[in-house]
Amino acid sequence: MKPNRKYILALDQGTTSSRAVITDDAGRIISSAQRDFTQYFPAPGQVEHDPAEIWSSQSAVVAEALAAKNIKGKEIAAIGITNQRETSLIWDRKTGAPVYNAIVWQDRRTAPAVEQLKAAGKSGMISEKTGLVPDAYFSATKIQWILNEVPGARARAEAGELAFGTVDTWLVWKLTGGEVHVTDVSNASRTMLFNIREKKWDRDLLALFDIPAAILPEVKSSSEVYGYTSGDTLYAKIPVAGIAGDQQAALFGQLCTETGMAKTTYGTGCFMMMNTGAQPVVSENKLLTTIAWELNGETVYALEGSVFIGGAAIQWLRDKIELFGQAGESEALAESLDDNDGVYFVPAMAGLGAPHWDASARGAFFGITRGTTIAHMTRAALEAIAYQVTDLMTAMERDSGSAVKEMRADGGATANNFLMQFQADVMRRAVNRPKNIESTALGAAFLAGLAVGFWKDTAALAELRHTDRVFKPEMQQEKAEHYLHFWQKALERAKNWTE
Ligand code: ADP
Repeated sequence: MKPNRKYILALDQGTTSSRAVITDDAGRIISSAQRDFTQYFPAPGQVEHDPAEIWSSQSAVVAEALAAKNIKGKEIAAIGITNQRETSLIWDRKTGAPVYNAIVWQDRRTAPAVEQLKAAGKSGMISEKTGLVPDAYFSATKIQWILNEVPGARARAEAGELAFGTVDTWLVWKLTGGEVHVTDVSNASRTMLFNIREKKWDRDLLALFDIPAAILPEVKSSSEVYGYTSGDTLYAKIPVAGIAGDQQAALFGQLCTETGMAKTTYGTGCFMMMNTGAQPVVSENKLLTTIAWELNGETVYALEGSVFIGGAAIQWLRDKIELFGQAGESEALAESLDDNDGVYFVPAMAGLGAPHWDASARGAFFGITRGTTIAHMTRAALEAIAYQVTDLMTAMERDSGSAVKEMRADGGATANNFLMQFQADVMRRAVNRPKNIESTALGAAFLAGLAVGFWKDTAALAELRHTDRVFKPEMQQEKAEHYLHFWQKALERAKNWTE
């Protein structure tokens, strides 16, 4: 296949932007392009995307990334896709026309439907089959809403005229000119319709949500040739060969391919995922159980937990409280102090997620004295990111029964050396920051490249991951315990606030 086909193209379709990333066989990023697209908020709590714009922004950045380095379609060995998860679309199989906008994972319009299911005692059955805690985030109630609310949609769905897809499915459909209707196991496992043990669409769940099986895509592995780009799309005959949801792709991009390996993405929120191997682990701490990927016939499971406010705490201090002008300034402010001097911040602005799950908690500073400065408040916000991630890891280790040796880190906030060092100090684990923090796009590229023999196996990939810096715990254990003790105390006082 080489030397003509020198590159892999990864499509990274996120919640607010579409990215295209071209890598070479050393896993280096040769070219990339990114474009924001429109967020629609039709009513409070509702978020939609225009499917046509998802596609047009995605194909535009592909063209841009290729043109920037004068790369031709015939030089691309394979295309991999990673995507915002759970966001749901339904379209007409014949015309390709969506029957409604994409309903985004953040959309809360179906929360009452989920509450009804919980009240009817369905939570246990849903969790057991899907590994998920029933919530409006997942696709099932969004599909149900479209079928119920769009005139004629249900009848057309039952007659086999409509197709459902998460964003990966939509992109493969568009790339192949409507030839291929598939998803991968990682995306399927976020629909709340997929039985993660049997690895098939679950008949009981389809009945529960009243969703006709005729609309569902075929579920494939995360690394195989699903089809080829069609003559109508920009570049014909390129194999589309890898799919994984964004967090799963990041786990793969970090090469967390062995049981017990874990990564945390430090972005707006923080997302931790741990590879738990060939068996799903049931969480006692309200973490989610999910499929990480299926590769060469083997399914790998993962535990997942997220912190709602991570880097967003720094954003908030910058934009709303105006403590500093650039996120990067937070590092020097925090490092200007030898200690937090007893000041703690609980960033529960949107309640608390895993493992605390308190929707009524609200943000608060504790331990403020007349000596408290901007530096203290900034440091408290950075520390809070590290404490929250530590709580997640503790829950994950408890659930899985395996200890994390090293946390692999990516995302925008990993640029902050104070945060990374403090994380290692309180977590008592090494934190490993790679040179290339584009883990999500890399994961999609790796999955696609493996499918077409561009890379031989995961061992060959492991050599492509280069560490930028390993942060080792340096703080005395006693000191770390002191910090964590006061963090827990602050946490308890921020809980159960709204009435
Ligand atoms: P997302 O993909 O969620 O938009 P990114 O991975 O781009 O997020 O990271 C952006 C987040 O990281 C923002 O919330 C920002 O406040 C935070 N951030 C960026 N640089 C720094 C820094 N040097 N120190 C602390 N936080 C940072």
